[in-house]
Amino acid sequence: MGKLTVMKYKTKRRTRDLDLIWEDLGNKESVLHLKNQPIQEDKPGLGQHYCVECSKYFESGHALVHHTKSKVHKRRLKQLKDIPYSQEEANGAAGLDLVKYQKKVLKQNERQEVQSLEKRDIDLLKTAKKNCFLNSLVDNEGEVLMV
Ligand SMILES: [Zn+2]
Repeated sequence: MGKLTVMKYKTKRRTRDLDLIWEDLGNKESVLHLKNQPIQEDKPGLGQHYCVECSKYFESGHALVHHTKSKVHKRRLKQLKDIPYSQEEANGAAGLDLVKYQKKVLKQNERQEVQSLEKRDIDLLKTAKKNCFLNSLVDNEGEVLMV
């Protein structure tokens, strides 16, 4: 393989970097915007089947569903759980642009708080649903109808 071919392959499958994807996932509007893209003839599947986490286009909905169950996608989800390393962090460690870094940290903490609140709400809903199901098994006098 010549030098030019190597360069071509290095950039052929290059996707967005993790920190950019992490930013994408930060607000619901950008996720919605990425999931509902206009028809683009130069993208696989006309750009209609997009995995936000992997920043990858798929030919069909079936391929996308198959992908979301795959090892590659799950590994990516795990990678995106952590806050990505950024230039601001590097500058902050060296004592440069501390105000900018502080703002970023505050924003990240806010986001994690929102996520944990959302998770708590989901958990509450789940337990409520479970209790509802258990109540339906018990009649008004408190006798168990089904075991
Ligand atoms: Zn994916």
